[in-house]
Amino acid sequence: MTTTMTTLKGQPLDRLAVDGLLRRRMFYTPSFDIYGGISGLFDYGPPGTALQSNILDVWRKHFVLEDNVLEVDCTVLTPHIVFKTSGHVDRFSDWMCKDPKSGVIMRADHFVEDVLEARLRGDKEARGQATSQTQKDPKRAAKAKAKGHTAVKLDDAVVQEYESVLAQIDNYDDKGLAALIQKYDLRCASGELPTPPVAFNLMFKTSIGPSSNTPGYLRPETAQGQFLNFAKLLEFNQNVMPFASASIGKSYRNEISPRGGLLRVRELSIVSSLKLAAYSNRFHQVENVELELLPRETQLSGKTNTTRMSIGKAVADGIVDNETLGYFLARINLFLQKIGVDPKKTRFRQHLAHYACDCWDAELLTSSGWVECVGCADRSAYDLSVHSKQTEKPLLVRQQLEQPRTVTSWEIDLNRKLFGPLFKKNARAVEAVLMAASQEQRESFGKELESTGKVVIDVAELGPVEINNDVLKCELRTSSQNVREYIPNVIEPSFGIGRIIFALCEHNYWVREGDEARSVLSFPPIVAPTKVLIVPLSNDKKFLPYMDQIGQKLRNAQISSRVDVSSATIGKRYSRNDELGTALGVTVDFQTLKDGSITLRDRDTTRQVRADQDKVLAAIQEIVNGGKTWADIENDLPAFTGQDQ
Ligand code: AMP
Repeated sequence: MTTTMTTLKGQPLDRLAVDGLLRRRMFYTPSFDIYGGISGLFDYGPPGTALQSNILDVWRKHFVLEDNVLEVDCTVLTPHIVFKTSGHVDRFSDWMCKDPKSGVIMRADHFVEDVLEARLRGDKEARGQATSQTQKDPKRAAKAKAKGHTAVKLDDAVVQEYESVLAQIDNYDDKGLAALIQKYDLRCASGELPTPPVAFNLMFKTSIGPSSNTPGYLRPETAQGQFLNFAKLLEFNQNVMPFASASIGKSYRNEISPRGGLLRVRELSIVSSLKLAAYSNRFHQVENVELELLPRETQLSGKTNTTRMSIGKAVADGIVDNETLGYFLARINLFLQKIGVDPKKTRFRQHLAHYACDCWDAELLTSSGWVECVGCADRSAYDLSVHSKQTEKPLLVRQQLEQPRTVTSWEIDLNRKLFGPLFKKNARAVEAVLMAASQEQRESFGKELESTGKVVIDVAELGPVEINNDVLKCELRTSSQNVREYIPNVIEPSFGIGRIIFALCEHNYWVREGDEARSVLSFPPIVAPTKVLIVPLSNDKKFLPYMDQIGQKLRNAQISSRVDVSSATIGKRYSRNDELGTALGVTVDFQTLKDGSITLRDRDTTRQVRADQDKVLAAIQEIVNGGKTWADIENDLPAFTGQDQ
């Protein structure tokens, strides 16, 4: 839902200006641009690539290093059977509808959202409370006008109803969306009602090998490779549970109508981590971390107000299902803050996914409203169970028990001398159904065999099959067990890096007071694409040896730098790099020629200090590694006020 955004200095955020900056300075650019581009496909330029790799570096340190995670790199190409088994072939789809007149294809939930939001904006305008977004964004205003919904006042009850629908928009299926379209008479740009929503599978289909009889897909997520390698990873981990795995890589989703730049793309970088355990052993370390939570119940009541609480309380009160999930939510929050996401523009929203017991999204506020940037799902034992069943490979943990335990269970015995000849070629299928029976089913087999002397089971290929008690026995038995076997639960946080980058840029963008042309991206030094700008005061050749020397020292310390020797004024050169988010600036001037000292400038305050090279380099290292802030450096080194800032 569209929400008015302000910059970190409280200025209204101009979405077009931020996006213009990101494209102009080549943070990202449409792929195949000179051929006209393809929607939903983007390339990152030098600052975008550096920002992404710095974010991934922090991610690896924050998650992989911290929790001894086993990182794997699995293939994108995946055979059909894997995604058939996981449920993606049948369920990984969005609802699609069409404008019958223009033929334009739309995502049905986005269509409903767009029309209702346009009506709500029209209502606000009619009440004289137009949002700055509508006023500022001519495209949006034109779109709303085309739909004929501008400046029409709605009844209060209707406003409430629309808001309630929008708060739950993810929960509607095809029938629900069709009902909304009818009920509210939601019309396409052409003035027609759209066609009824139908499912559109988002996976890119391909064939593997020349014979084209091995169908496959480009993976739409990075989790399956980790599930399929579970047994080997467990062995690699010396059979110690719990453990976590991680994967960083590209995923592909054939989005119906990509929009919003990096927010909805068809080729995306996903970083996912799987925690395989029924519990978290480090929850106590994060239990005081506070989160803004938007629980399911609040949304179902049509509201979107968040509740701030510690993750410890959220788990204790049953709002978040378990400690492992809670551990990840807190760690995700800490990660987002570390890379510079604004905590005031972060919330955790609970929702239901097809495979999940409990699922929370970390949503970040952007100029397109709240956007899911990290999904955190409790996938229970679902994926491991279905793959194990399909492949008949045991994807389970065998845990040696310290004390043997007594187990009572219903056990099945077959009289094989009679069973084989009785069912002949169908014997395997019948046996598979019997052996797959749950304890409850086995109990009822036992009771039926005793009372009627037979049971009837359903075998997919054969229909009902009758088995007598001379062939089948089912009894309650007690045994002593030294080993516990179980399929572990899985918690999966999955990060969309492009969305995080986009939100991060919006959260860190601002404009210097009194100068619209001087925009700044205040990334924390740890993720800033370039850490240091090196500028000579003028293009006097005498400065060059000093610049080379400083550049070499920074390279030796593995700190990225850029040199700007253009003829622009020094102020201009600083501001060109402020909008790239370069954290610090070093200037070589005539004083340097006398005593070797250089100045160090902070991007955000534009203030400077002056000291000899080694002190300045030590200060840079401390800022870049997060050990000190600019305020600390201003305490340590003398201020300098000489140059244009
Ligand atoms: P999901 O597996 O659907 O929970 O997606 C994992 C993460 O990938 C989401 O939290 C988003 O950040 C990101 N994501 C999903 N679809 C897209 C897309 N089409 N474009 C960009 N990011 C996406």
